[in-house]
This record gives sequence, C-alpha cells and structure tokens, in this order.
Amino acid sequence: MGLVVGPAATPAQYEAAREIFRRYARFLGLDLEYRGFTDELATLDRMYGPPRGCLLLARKGEEFVGAVGLREFEPGVAEVSGRRLHGVPPLLPGRPRNVGPGRGAERDGRARGRPGMSFATVVNCMDGRVQLPVIRYLQGRFGVEHVDSVTEAGPCRILAENDPPELCRSILSRVEISVRKHRSRGIAVVAHFDCAGNPAPRDDQVGQVREAVQRLRERFAGVETIGLWVGEDWRVREIPAGEGR
Ligand SMILES: [Zn+2]
Repeated sequence: MGLVVGPAATPAQYEAAREIFRRYARFLGLDLEYRGFTDELATLDRMYGPPRGCLLLARKGEEFVGAVGLREFEPGVAEVSGRRLHGVPPLLPGRPRNVGPGRGAERDGRARGRPGMSFATVVNCMDGRVQLPVIRYLQGRFGVEHVDSVTEAGPCRILAENDPPELCRSILSRVEISVRKHRSRGIAVVAHFDCAGNPAPRDDQVGQVREAVQRLRERFAGVETIGLWVGEDWRVREIPAGEGR
C-alpha cells in the first residue's frame, strides 16, 4: 500500500501530526523542552499553517505515519528545518529511506540532501564517552538520520588556533567531504568535560569552540554551524553564539 502525502487542514489532522511528533520525541529519547517542544505542538497550526507554511502528513491506509513542517524562511524561500523533520523512523521500521513526507516537502522547499537520506556533521573529540550523546543530540537538532564524525583529540583547540595547521587542514577537508558529498544540514563542534586531549578549563574551551565555529562558518557559509558542550553529566548543551556559558 502506497503512501499518500497531503497538507494537514482539519483539527483532527493537526492532532495526528502532534501525536507523530510526540512519538518521534520518545523515539529520540531526548528532552526537547530546551526548544519549546510543548509550545511548538500547541501552535502547530499557526506555525505551519497557510499561507506561509504547510504541514504535510503522510498516510498509509487509514493510519497517519509521518509528518513534516514547512514554513517560510524568507520571502520566496521555504525552510524544511531539520529539527522539524519528524515522525518517520520509528513508524516505518525497515524502510526509513523510502518514505514520502521528506521527499514531498523537499520538492516544495529548499531542502538539502539526497532524497530520504540526511546527514549532519560533527567535529568531535575522539573521546568515546561523548560519541553517542552527541550523535543522538544532533539527530534531533538537525532532524537527520546520520551524523558524519570527524574526530581528533580536543579538536576545538586545533580549529581555534590553527595548530598544528596540517591537522586543522585535515579536519576541514573531512568536513568538506561531508558537506559537499552528503549535503550536510548542519555542523557542530564539540568540547567536553575531562578532555584528555585539551585539558583547558571549561570557559577556555567554550571560547575555543566559538572561534572554531567562526572558522567553519567562514569556510562553509550557508550551513548552520553550532558549538556544543558536553558536561560532567554527559548531557549535551548548545553554546550560545555570543556571551554566556
Ligand atoms: Zn576530549
């Protein structure tokens, strides 16, 4: 039975979309409240309603199986924000790459990536403790299936200080592969608690992450780039662009 994709219009259809978003949040196992998940659910119809938005629902038979939001990013340009690519993996086990909602929205919007296959990029420390928390965070943050990992020991310092330059170049060339070949939707640079490769205090590392983010933004303009801090509790937090910790 094929998938039928169409815009949500009735209260019942918006409620079906909410349920898909909730199931996706449970699937990720993440607390999404840091970005106002409850509020987002409550205002789906306004956020994604016409005339500037669209909430596409995928239906298989009588059951709604996927949803994706599309809204105006700037006049004439639609955003399919990765964070809002909800609902597909847990609901169609075994064939997450071959479903309708993402592809339907990508046809309408300016989405990046190969149909049904989505990537983000992380410049992460080699430390084994931070791999899974960061990958899971970025799957939710950018709404992607896969996270390409570029790892070094304390990479934020290497990027911030261009030291050693050959390693900095190596990191950038690997990020470039992910951005160009996989059309990565977003890049993250990570620093973390108890880093053996970069034992600088937290505040110094946060400053290095900001500089590293700046270097990546200059090099990969147009790809959203963020900094992450993994703390003592191994939870991932986004480093604000300006001041702050
Ligand atoms: Zn480390």
